[in-house]
Amino acid sequence: MGISLVLAIVILNYYIFQLPPEGNYLSMDSSVYLASIFVFGLHYTLTLLLYSSIVYALLARKIALWKHVSNFAIYNMMIIGASYIYQLSGGVPGPMDFHQIHAYVLSLSAYFLLNVFIIGLYYLITIKGNLMNVYKGIIKETISGYVSTLLLSLILTIMITTYQIYGLILLLLVTILLSIAFKQLFALYKEVSEKAIRDQRTGLYNHGYFETVMEQELTKSKELQQPLSLTIMDIDDFKKYNDAYGHLKGDRLLEFFGALIKEECETNGLFAARYGGEEFTILHPNSSEAEAFSFVNRLRKKLNDTFFEGVEVFPHGCISFSAGIIGLKTGIYDKSQFVDMADQALYFAKAQGKNLVHIYDDQSVVQKTFDIEREISEIEHQLKIFLSKDVYTYQHSKRVFEYAVEMSEKIGLNDYERKMLTLGALFHDIGKLEIPRDILNKKGKLTSEEWEIVKKHVLWGKEIASTNQRLKHLIPLIELHHERYDGMGYPHGLHSNEIPKLARILTVIDSFDAMTTERPYQKTKSFDEAFSEIRMHSGTQFDPEIVEPFIEMIMDKFYWKRNILNSELKTAQEI
Ligand code: GH3
Ligand code: MG
Ligand code: MG
Repeated sequence: MGISLVLAIVILNYYIFQLPPEGNYLSMDSSVYLASIFVFGLHYTLTLLLYSSIVYALLARKIALWKHVSNFAIYNMMIIGASYIYQLSGGVPGPMDFHQIHAYVLSLSAYFLLNVFIIGLYYLITIKGNLMNVYKGIIKETISGYVSTLLLSLILTIMITTYQIYGLILLLLVTILLSIAFKQLFALYKEVSEKAIRDQRTGLYNHGYFETVMEQELTKSKELQQPLSLTIMDIDDFKKYNDAYGHLKGDRLLEFFGALIKEECETNGLFAARYGGEEFTILHPNSSEAEAFSFVNRLRKKLNDTFFEGVEVFPHGCISFSAGIIGLKTGIYDKSQFVDMADQALYFAKAQGKNLVHIYDDQSVVQKTFDIEREISEIEHQLKIFLSKDVYTYQHSKRVFEYAVEMSEKIGLNDYERKMLTLGALFHDIGKLEIPRDILNKKGKLTSEEWEIVKKHVLWGKEIASTNQRLKHLIPLIELHHERYDGMGYPHGLHSNEIPKLARILTVIDSFDAMTTERPYQKTKSFDEAFSEIRMHSGTQFDPEIVEPFIEMIMDKFYWKRNILNSELKTAQEI
């Protein structure tokens, strides 16, 4: 019997139950150890463990010796623990006896808890995290597997005490067949999950999976302070090819294009995806913009030189694409901004005549995409919508705009930054359009629920701006003008340099105007009072480098104007 049990354990080490995700599995050898505790007692079971571990270590020499040894130690602890609990709760080794069912249950629970405890410690040491969360995760994921292992041990107890070796063989056969069935199911699961992340036409990864990976890579690169670059490319004049030969042939071209990118990227350790129709993205981990550029430009030339049926309809007489590249830098705080910047560089490459690769830079993008006069008149037009709903926000935006114009001058912003800041100032509160009227115009204090709604205006504003290609630039200003320098702001709690400089400037301007104008929920401050308030919060709410230049600018440009206005007002009232 002993030899058959050792054999059974070794066989069960091979016929495991594979479960998703990859690398997760359940081994039924625990059922044999437990049944052995119930029928033969502790010493017999430890001997079984020793022999089966030696046999398995000799057979599976690919697995490192320390893994065999640590497994052996862990099983020892679990077996000894379960066995003591079995004895303590009155269990006697021998045939299955339903009168001592409580002893079985307690002993099985002890085995389970010890295992969870040890695995939890292992995860804690290797992965690090909150101990309670690790335990919760393990229990949630493994409970049904465990219960089946444990129940199987009771069935095995019945089988070996009633039918001895034949009982064991029967159970072993069922387990082996089930393990094979699980393996097939797992292969199917892998196939389906692989399909879910791939684009069927090109074999590249799809948009959804790309977003997931980009999010992970962004976090990783920020943490490790490694470079990361992103390319978006778009086939030039693809519509002409479709129009000339039909969509089916167009599809063949896409397949060809995708296969070429896939091969090039895979051999260079890059991550490529089909982002949409005839747009493709490449993520270049650990690569600077310059490295990404040289790779993509080489790819572009290679495609130019590659023949494909019907390429004569393209203006350049060959397949070509335009690409925009952006490298991770401070001030990039989320993936949509990262993609937008690459997209703007692509837009620029197209505007420059196509078949070009362009690295994002503020100046060039803005020259092509910004016509400040037109933008301002368009934004003003949109802002006027506020007039009927929220006059205050309309006037506030216009004043913040005036301050922003002067502030840009004061701190010597470049052309691009100046346009961004002034347009951002006009548009920063556009999300307030979504706030219900009764909250907007409420006299007196807001309730905490109402306050939560007001806070959402930054994200609503972001949504509004993201629907307009030309306003996308302004998203950081709209989204982040309520962040605080000390990280206590909303919506993300970013701090210091994580908040783009222009958003930090806008925060000071915006707050100053809020303090010094009439608001339903707070007393209006004089300019002097507002200065001391801003100084008091310099370094906590506000960027300390902006506070003094801002106050100087107000003193220079607005202070006297305001005083004159006030005194005129007074005189008028007196008369
Ligand atoms: P540009 O150089 O400005 O990018 O010009 P373009 O013609 O490539 O771009 P445009 O956006 O005008 O047209 C893209 C075309 O791509 C239109 C659309 O029908 C086609 N397209 C998108 N997805 C597929 C697809 O899966 N198969 C085929 N055959 N055509 C597609
Ligand atoms: Mg396109
Ligand atoms: Mg195109």
